[in-house]
Amino acid sequence: MITRIRFTTFFFAPLALCAVFSAPLQAEELVVYTARNEQLIKPLFDAYTKETGVKITFVTDKEGALMQRLKSEGRNTPADMLITVDAGNLWQAAQEGLLKPVKSEVVEKNIPAHLRDPNNQWFGLSVRARTLFYNTQKLKPADLKGYEDLADPKWKGRLCLRTSKKVYNQSLVAMMIAEHGAVKAEQIVRGWVDNLATQPFPDDTKMMEAVAAGQCDVGIANTYYYGRLMEKSPKLPLGIFWANQEGSGVHVNISGAGVTKFAKHEKEAVKLLEWLSSGKAQNLFADVNLEFPANPQIKPDATVAAWGTFKGNSINVVKAGELQVEAVKLMDRAGYK
Ligand code: FE
Repeated sequence: MITRIRFTTFFFAPLALCAVFSAPLQAEELVVYTARNEQLIKPLFDAYTKETGVKITFVTDKEGALMQRLKSEGRNTPADMLITVDAGNLWQAAQEGLLKPVKSEVVEKNIPAHLRDPNNQWFGLSVRARTLFYNTQKLKPADLKGYEDLADPKWKGRLCLRTSKKVYNQSLVAMMIAEHGAVKAEQIVRGWVDNLATQPFPDDTKMMEAVAAGQCDVGIANTYYYGRLMEKSPKLPLGIFWANQEGSGVHVNISGAGVTKFAKHEKEAVKLLEWLSSGKAQNLFADVNLEFPANPQIKPDATVAAWGTFKGNSINVVKAGELQVEAVKLMDRAGYK
């Protein structure tokens, strides 16, 4: 191989020299803005650099701050890619014109259609499931069905929820609007509010701790918070229940990425995206936060796999964004704080 390149360059230099040596030079660096923190993202970028020689500079911050930064930098932004959590946030970034559509057969093959933007501006790279967690001393799995059932008066004073201010719950309600229509979705949310054992919690972990402490019987949370909590306190009487298995499946959301509108290294950014959607990168991306790989060919981490398999809702997660404003208003009307 090396001999052949030398032979070619010998005859076609200096033109061939340019072709052989200048292309990789332009692409040796990428800039990524990421709402995933350094400890989650650095091992991944280190592996990419090791494999390809492409150096990745990254900036970590909250998604709102990163989007604001992209907006104010405009065409002068150094960022080639934005990585963030929740389809609602990715949709927002696309809506504000911060991302550009990219075409990649590799990514389209690796990532199921419902986990990426129909307009190709963002792509899910890991899946987070938002499902039911129950107190194993009070309930059996057979007592549970899913989200809609938690609105039934039989759960009065037995339900705990996280605040409606969190995008995860806004996305969950948006997906319920997509599935049932706004009228039924509002009835469900009103039912939840009527059944609350106590005020909504500031985060999923505190909510689950209340379930485990017996303050309520059941609540809704993302699986990776359960994973972290059980790693810390394995004896907690807390069980995971896959919601809506007889219906449309568990509410799933994504963390994902898009190429920025003014990316200086678009081709290279697409290559990184393709790499992130395949093989061991999928594990590096998902396992570190106890999430599920978005690529169905890749097996989850052992801790995650031990929770069992489930049917996930297959409505496109873009609905979480499109219906976000409506979901927020609906939760407000229903008195869900
Ligand atoms: Fe989270």
